[in-house]
Amino acid sequence: MPADLVISSDDAVWADGVVISQDCSSLHAPYGSTIAAMGLPVEFHCHGLGRYDFSAFATSDVAQARWLEEINALAEKESIIVVVTLFVRSGELSILEDLVQVWHCERSRNRLKNIGGFGIEGPMLASIGGTPKSGGWIPTDAEWTRISDLGRMGVIYTVVSQSSGVENARFSSVIDCLCSNGIHPALGHFPQDDVAKALKSIEITLDRAELHGVKVLTDHLFNDMPRNFRHAWRTEKEKRGRLSELMSERDVRWTSSNLEKIVGPVAAALMKAALEKKLSLCVNFDGEHVDSSVLRKTVDFVGADQIVAMTDRVDVPRLKGFHLADKPGSKLWYVNGTTVAASKSTIDDQIRLMASQLRMTDCEILKATVVNPRRFLPKIVRDNLPEDWLTQLSMHPARTSIGG
Ligand SMILES: [Zn+2]
Repeated sequence: MPADLVISSDDAVWADGVVISQDCSSLHAPYGSTIAAMGLPVEFHCHGLGRYDFSAFATSDVAQARWLEEINALAEKESIIVVVTLFVRSGELSILEDLVQVWHCERSRNRLKNIGGFGIEGPMLASIGGTPKSGGWIPTDAEWTRISDLGRMGVIYTVVSQSSGVENARFSSVIDCLCSNGIHPALGHFPQDDVAKALKSIEITLDRAELHGVKVLTDHLFNDMPRNFRHAWRTEKEKRGRLSELMSERDVRWTSSNLEKIVGPVAAALMKAALEKKLSLCVNFDGEHVDSSVLRKTVDFVGADQIVAMTDRVDVPRLKGFHLADKPGSKLWYVNGTTVAASKSTIDDQIRLMASQLRMTDCEILKATVVNPRRFLPKIVRDNLPEDWLTQLSMHPARTSIGG
């Protein structure tokens, strides 16, 4: 435990009496200490911990309880709150309902405190990208209602985009259905070749969600969307050309007037909506999904208030049973040789990159990894976060050494 912390009920109080407030307004402490003061970071979009590929979820009640307990224990050991993010096959809804119900029941009994809820990647996605094909399908009205009902039990968001063949009115009604139970639509997996459709789906989602008072999220900013620029350099050959490509853009500061030209209309629409506080951007800070230079410009343009760090992490080479492959010198997982499917990076890896390469301030890091993601956690979680977080953190060198 940082020596200069004294704990007072829900707040952390510095020895000199400064209360760390939720809006970070009084933060001026060394990095490691401030992280400890604010509590456990959230792995907001995480596909697996340890030997678990979350999308291969257990099927019977008893097995589900044990499955959740083991995942909770892994999250507790890492001092994180994990949002269990899954791909769901058509026909698996009733198993998912059971799983979320088991978690909700246990959470109501004050257990499984390091699991912050669930996210669903899909099922309606315009572009599959590196995700398992079986996770992309178009539910019936009755199935959408069942998915929406899970919003009251612990599903926080569903990644969604307007699939081909789905009319605007139908897409509106899907967003209405999700929002009616507080599920946050997370925009992503856009069509790669239909900018107009992607923009229309953003407009519909923002309009409908605003009517319901529900904040919109995104999936990875910049990935799986039409772009005007290079956002990542991944192969050795690409990395060799990275510097010269960056030199040409180095002095270009992103502004509201040049943003669309630089990043493309889809990413620009999402970033501008974030500036208007209509959505929060989920950004992968592993430094490989998106290059660190692009991450720095994103934080500069949007500010940290509307950014939620996401890891897209899975530790084993599997995603809903699909085999993943890695490459030397990279923490990315690939399918079919070149398509990025997930990452091995942890939230602590991301915190290190934010502090060292991106030179983000303590306050910016706290907002992206702790404060902002917690705003989306279900009330049952927010009302009763793990109280032993400080003990857990004291054992965690990644968060107590950098910048301290
Ligand atoms: Zn994902």
